[in-house]
Amino acid sequence: MASIFTKIVQGEIPCEKVFETDSELAFLDIMPNEIGHTLVIPKLEVLRLEDLPQSHAISLMCSLQKVAKAVSLAFDGIDYNLILNNGANAGQVVEHIHFHVIPRSEGSPRPFQKHIQYADREMQKIGARIRNYF
Ligand code: 5GP
Repeated sequence: MASIFTKIVQGEIPCEKVFETDSELAFLDIMPNEIGHTLVIPKLEVLRLEDLPQSHAISLMCSLQKVAKAVSLAFDGIDYNLILNNGANAGQVVEHIHFHVIPRSEGSPRPFQKHIQYADREMQKIGARIRNYF
């Protein structure tokens, strides 16, 4: 079944569109975290970032940069977070990859509030484990 975002791309569900290319669409989030909270999606319906063909990923990043700049300028050069919830445990609800562009001003909640520490030599082991997959 088509994702809710594919239905938006196909015009079956309305959205407040701010930007569109052949491959991407950007529109305002219906339940914003902040005023101006915008979603940037590839029109190709894939679940996760790594599922996106590289050419689409490059194109998505170019559109994301343009949209983020426009959102920022629309609010006097405001700061913003770019967030990709990749998978359910990362908070992904809509199963169609999307970047959130969320304006942030003084006093906005900070991401990454929780920090942990590596045990002795653990950092090197984790680095090696990740390098194994390139
Ligand atoms: P996720 O948690 O999957 O990263 O975020 C999904 C986002 O999509 C949420 O912030 C939610 O408010 C937004 N959203 C869900 N359904 C719709 C919709 O039909 N229209 C719009 N504009 N946003 C939606």
